[in-house]
Amino acid sequence: MSDADADIEDGNRDFIRDTIREDLRSGRHKAVVTRFPPEPNGYLHIGHAKSICLNFGIAGEFGGRCNLRFDDTNPAREEQEFIDAIQTDVRWLGFDWGDDLHHASDYFEQLYAWAEHLIEAGKAYVDDLSAEEMREYRGTLTEPGRNSPHRDRSVEENLDLFRRMRAGEFPDGARILRARIDMASGNMNLRDPALYRILHAPHPRTGTNWCIYPTYDFAHGQSDAIEGVTHSLCTLEFSDHRPLYEWFIENLPVPAQPRQYEFSRLNITHTVLSKRNLAQLVDDGHVAGWDDPRMPTVSGLRRRGVPAEAIRDFIGRLAITKSDGVVEAAMLDHCIREHLNANVERRMAVLRPLKVVIENYPEGQTEELDAVNKPQDPDSSTRKVPFAREIYIERDDFMEDPPRKFFRLGPGREVRLRFAYFVTCQETIKDADGNVIELRCTYDPETRGGNAPDGRKVKGTIHWVAAETAATAEVRIYDHLFADPSPGAERSFLEDLNPESLEVLSDCRLEPSLSASNGQTFQFERLGYFAADLDSTSSQLIFNRTIALRDTWAKTKAKN
Ligand code: ATP
Ligand code: MG
Repeated sequence: MSDADADIEDGNRDFIRDTIREDLRSGRHKAVVTRFPPEPNGYLHIGHAKSICLNFGIAGEFGGRCNLRFDDTNPAREEQEFIDAIQTDVRWLGFDWGDDLHHASDYFEQLYAWAEHLIEAGKAYVDDLSAEEMREYRGTLTEPGRNSPHRDRSVEENLDLFRRMRAGEFPDGARILRARIDMASGNMNLRDPALYRILHAPHPRTGTNWCIYPTYDFAHGQSDAIEGVTHSLCTLEFSDHRPLYEWFIENLPVPAQPRQYEFSRLNITHTVLSKRNLAQLVDDGHVAGWDDPRMPTVSGLRRRGVPAEAIRDFIGRLAITKSDGVVEAAMLDHCIREHLNANVERRMAVLRPLKVVIENYPEGQTEELDAVNKPQDPDSSTRKVPFAREIYIERDDFMEDPPRKFFRLGPGREVRLRFAYFVTCQETIKDADGNVIELRCTYDPETRGGNAPDGRKVKGTIHWVAAETAATAEVRIYDHLFADPSPGAERSFLEDLNPESLEVLSDCRLEPSLSASNGQTFQFERLGYFAADLDSTSSQLIFNRTIALRDTWAKTKAKN
């Protein structure tokens, strides 16, 4: 089995769901409560979607509830913009937290009281070591750490110092509150981990009320307990934190006993899924923003035209296991294509236009032809597309000297214009440099709708757009943001960026119905799937290619 296969299996039976089934059956829990706990320091990416689908999915399947909880314990990096975007994205993915929108910051007062509880029990102390000294004292994976000289301060002194930390008497970094566990523990997370840091920074929700903030480890499990979370699901890198999670739950008078379970994170080829790296792409201008359609963010995928259903389907196919793997980007593409193929309507668009004049079609005449919206659906509706003497076809659909297998247009050749007529190329018009700039064709009026009454066949059918009534648009063609399948594996991930991830086609012609397309995604006949971009207006239409019709990436890679 390849790594990719290892991470793919039927999503509905996995060790987490099995545990929950057992917990409900044995009566350990009456109802399941999960939470999705994003830190609002960036936009959600498709890795988060795995966690969202898992947490909200499980709550739905077992009739429980899933809270959305902002893990907003580090105001230095957190912003309201991210808080808003996260809510938009979770809703768009199809999930609802009802009244259960929470924030770790809602619990700051309680967490503080619990910190004092640990101090009073002799299980926490204020340390004055500098960050660098603390690192030295911490030891390494092979060497035990050493006790800080401040480890044995009296309860009174610790309480006094901790209260003065809260009161703002000390500058950032001067002191921290640590748990007093075991500096020789084989698990580095138990070597007197930090509970509170001094940070004189205003918080989006608590303003300037606090100048000390709890660490992730101290806030997370206790927030779970306050909310009555039964199964706290996180990714594998937190496995080593579980003993600490449990230590807090055992040593504090918490109202419930949540348990932590870890599952494999989602990794995808040609993709980076780390907020830090994604933020760098945005901040350094390598992409247009968090929602650039090349970004693996939920907002980027949405802007590209990827439906939420396709993302949920993709996530549903991933294994929830205890070992990390890498999923092929092609698998996500497959889910997107499969969904769009089944669901979206078709339209005609010409991305690289070549003008065609149909010489025997009466000047000034136009007619409305019937075009099928969903040929894959026998009950498909139809729409009218205008036909006229001057049309555009795709440059690629004409060759002056075509090879034998080229079934499209060439001098003297006849093809079918989809939903319209048979046309034959009579003459090629070139510019001074010898480039073909126009074709002169004739049409057979007997072939209206695309069939010849004499049973005559043509080998090719091409799409087209009538010139005068066409809408003009910019179309953005995207490729993988990273050319390398494992960006950053060998060098900086920035060096693995694909220089050809965006191609802008600025002179595209669309059938007129597309000028009011409302953010829907369409299949442009023979070209791929496209969705109107956010920035599209009635005077400047912009379409994003959501995905090509077929996977051409694998083929081009194989050739190299
Ligand atoms: P990143 O590593 O991308 O910076 P993070 O884990 O710091 O992300 P959080 O906002 O803390 O981001 O994540 C919220 C939840 O989403 C966590 O429970 C985390 O385990 C989960 N999550 C993050 N990335 C992935 C991923 N690639 N696959 C599955 N779950 C993920
Ligand atoms: Mg995190």
